[in-house]
Amino acid sequence: MKITKVKTFIVDGVFRPWTFVKIETNSDIVGWGDCTDWQAAPSIAATVDQLSEILIGKNPMSSESHWWEMGAFMVRQRGGIAYKAMSGIDSALWDIRGKRLNSPVWQLLGGKMRDKLKLYWSHCGTDRKKYHKKLNVKNLSKIDDINDIAQEVIDQKFKAIKTNILNLDNISGKPKITDTLHKNYLGVGNSGQISFEELSNAVDVISTFREALGPQIGIAIDTALKYRLGGAIKLAKALEPYDLMWLETETWNPDSLRTVRNSTSTTICHGESLIGPEEYRPFLEKQSQDILMPDFAWNGITMGKKICDLSHIYDTAIAPHNCHSPINTLISSNICAVIPNFMILEFINDDAPWRDDIMTHPFEIEDGFLKIHNRPGIGSDLIESELLKHPWINGNNW
Ligand SMILES: [Mg+2]
Repeated sequence: MKITKVKTFIVDGVFRPWTFVKIETNSDIVGWGDCTDWQAAPSIAATVDQLSEILIGKNPMSSESHWWEMGAFMVRQRGGIAYKAMSGIDSALWDIRGKRLNSPVWQLLGGKMRDKLKLYWSHCGTDRKKYHKKLNVKNLSKIDDINDIAQEVIDQKFKAIKTNILNLDNISGKPKITDTLHKNYLGVGNSGQISFEELSNAVDVISTFREALGPQIGIAIDTALKYRLGGAIKLAKALEPYDLMWLETETWNPDSLRTVRNSTSTTICHGESLIGPEEYRPFLEKQSQDILMPDFAWNGITMGKKICDLSHIYDTAIAPHNCHSPINTLISSNICAVIPNFMILEFINDDAPWRDDIMTHPFEIEDGFLKIHNRPGIGSDLIESELLKHPWINGNNW
């Protein structure tokens, strides 16, 4: 079997461009992968196209070899766009391997340890204020609206959620954030400290969720890269009474994060911003966090599994970052099925209304759990004619 063609599709995912890779072969087997990146989709697609030059004519079953060959080719572009492009290709190669061997990918990774995966409803409320019409869901612009979405969480039997410091209209300490959500997340022009207004806003949001959801449903909050040492510590301590599933705070400094973790009883999670086992290693060696969240659209199946195994050695749980496309949910599910340190998987419940239309086999979700699939490959193909109905127009979000 030989690789004959590598294609990309950039598809409207409402608030991010789903970026898919399709690898065709000289047999009737094709593979699908995901390399969704919210800001650089055209650049990643162009890099996939460039990498295809070293893949055409090669055996698709040699994914480990292809990873290292692509890494060598991109040696001066390590991480970022290059590794995301490599990851989309890598997952598509694993899909091909599974189909060729008539086996689910999870079977090839060691065999499943569980039949279903606990999901958390991510971005819970976060995207509703701006995108509720496109997502076909209720608006969430006021603090009282949290009660409505909390009831949806309970009705759908999710066991956990993740939200953000929501910028609501009538909150007591409304943050002085008038720029885009994007800037808010990344802390552009921010000292990394937290203001009184932001702190009180966070407490209002989380306490409202906790009261509405009760003590049994896990609540996490994601602050991305916004807060540095002092800001993250203040926030973690202020949220201690609400027994968070975790506080998510990103940094590239393992000592800094270790200091945050040591300062609080709040569980600390991070790692979506790291690429490859090499970048995770110092954070694991210093036990800087309770939970790691690697992203498999950005590390592939090949390196993603290695990161999970490395984390297990350091007694660290895995809750993969997964706010991209339905294909990445499937890719994640194949790894999560087989790793002993799996905790919970991110899931975008308020997703594009056409999500299931593009899949030959949509998800089976029951009571907040994703059933592990039993099909050869990653678990579903994509339907090209449906993808083409929803082209991403660059720049139509943020
Ligand atoms: Mg995050």
